[in-house]
Amino acid sequence: MTPLDLPDDMRAALQRASMPDFSRWLRMVYATGGCAQPVRLHGERVTVDAGTGEVLDIYRTADEPTGFLLTACGNRRASRCPACSATYRDDTYHLIISGLRGGKGVPEEVSAHPRVFATFTAPSFGSVHAHRERDGKTQPCRPRRDQPLCRHGRPEGCGLRHERDDAHVGQPLCADCYDYRSAVLWNAHAGELWRRFTQALPAALARLVGMRRAALRRLLRISYAKVAEYQSRGLVHFHAVIRLDGPDGPADRPPPWATVALLDHAIRDAARSVAVPMPGGSGADLMWGDQLDVRPVYVSTELDGVSDQRVAAYVAKYATKGAESAGTVDRPIKNASDIELLPVTDHARRMIYICFALSRLPQYREIPLRQWAHMLGYRGHFSTKSRHYSIRLGDLRRTRAEYRAEQARLLLGLPAPDPDKALTLAEWSYAGSGHRHGEAFWAEVARNRIVTARRIARQRSD
Ligand SMILES: [Zn+2]
Ligand SMILES: [Zn+2]
Ligand SMILES: [Zn+2]
Repeated sequence: MTPLDLPDDMRAALQRASMPDFSRWLRMVYATGGCAQPVRLHGERVTVDAGTGEVLDIYRTADEPTGFLLTACGNRRASRCPACSATYRDDTYHLIISGLRGGKGVPEEVSAHPRVFATFTAPSFGSVHAHRERDGKTQPCRPRRDQPLCRHGRPEGCGLRHERDDAHVGQPLCADCYDYRSAVLWNAHAGELWRRFTQALPAALARLVGMRRAALRRLLRISYAKVAEYQSRGLVHFHAVIRLDGPDGPADRPPPWATVALLDHAIRDAARSVAVPMPGGSGADLMWGDQLDVRPVYVSTELDGVSDQRVAAYVAKYATKGAESAGTVDRPIKNASDIELLPVTDHARRMIYICFALSRLPQYREIPLRQWAHMLGYRGHFSTKSRHYSIRLGDLRRTRAEYRAEQARLLLGLPAPDPDKALTLAEWSYAGSGHRHGEAFWAEVARNRIVTARRIARQRSD
C-alpha cells in the first residue's frame, strides 16, 4: 500500500508525525492525559529569587518547538472529552466512596452511620413506551385489551416488547396528548424542588422523634451527595446518598435511635411534603413523582440492600453524563431555526421547541428556559453535596494540579522552585483549543495507552 491509498485521517496523522515539533507536542499530549479538546497557551513563566530579585529562570512558549503549551480541558462530559471525564468520574467515585466507608481523610467509623441511597423521580406527564422486565423477561409495553384510542385517534396501549435500548423507550404514545409544557417546567424547577427537600428533611426527622429542630441539630447532622440523571423520557431524576452523623460530622456518631428506618421514613415524609408552585399561576404544583426508591447502603461484603461500591460507581457514572442520554445535544442551541436539524429524538425536539416557545411568554420570562433548552429545561448542577459529606472535589483537583505542575516542570526540565526562596511569575494567554489537522488520532492513541497502563497498574496492586 502506498501512502496515497491511506484514508484521509491516517494520512493527516502521518503528516503530523513527520513535523519537527511532533515528539515535543506528543509529550504534552500525554501530560494532558490524551485530552480531546486541549487548550493551547502562549506566554511565559519567570522564576525570581524572592530575596535578591535575581532572575533564576525564564520559560517562554515562544522558545518551545511547538510554540505553545498544552493543557487539559477538564470537561466533565464523556461526550465532550473521554480523557477528562474519566478523571472527573474517578474523582466523583472517591468522593462518594469516602463518604460511605471512609478514606481520604474521612474516618472509617463513618461506615457504621445510617445511610441510604434514594432515587427521586418526576411525575408522569403522559404515557411513554417503556421497557419492562419480570424474572429476566421483557414484558409487553402498556398492554390494553380493549384497544382504546386517544382523542387524536392514536392507540392508548402498545403491547410490544421493547428491549432496554429500543429507540421507542421514553417516547410518548401520543405526542399531542403529552404535557410538554409541564414537563419542561418540571425540569426547570427540579433543582428548586431538591433544595426544598433538603430543607424539609430535618423538619420531618424532628417531627418523627418529637423534637424541636434546634434540639435535633445539637444531636445529629444530615449529609448528602446527589447526582442528576436523565431518564429516557427526558425528565431529570436525582440519586442521592443521604447519611446521618453526629453534630460534628463524619467523625461523630449519631444517637442510637437515629436508624436507617427512621431516615427512610423521614425522607418519604419530606419528599411528599414539598412542592413548587407552577409558574404563571396556572396548573398543579410541581412535585416529585410517586416512585421514590429508598434503599439502605451496606458495606460491599454484606449481602442486603445495595453495596457501597455499586452506589459510588453508579453516582460517578452519571456525574459525567448530560442530557445526551435522553437523546439531545451537549451544548446550547443558539437559534430556533437550528432546532429542526438537530440530531435528536422527536420527543427531545418537542421539549426543546417548548423551551423556546415558553421563553417568549411573559409569565415564564424569569425562567432561563431558552439557555437551557439543550438540557430540556434543567439548569441545576449535575452533582452536589453538603459540606460535611466527605472530601471536596476541589481538594482532589488541587492535589492533581500540584501533580500536573510537577509533571510539567519535569517535562520542561525546569528547576524545582523553593517556595521560600523563589517567586514564580506566570502570564498565559489563550491561543486556541481542540486538536488541529492530524492530531486527534495521536491524542486518542495517548489516551488508550494511559487507560491500559492504569488498568495494568490496578490489576498488579489488587
Ligand atoms: Zn479534556
Ligand atoms: Zn410501547
Ligand atoms: Zn393523543
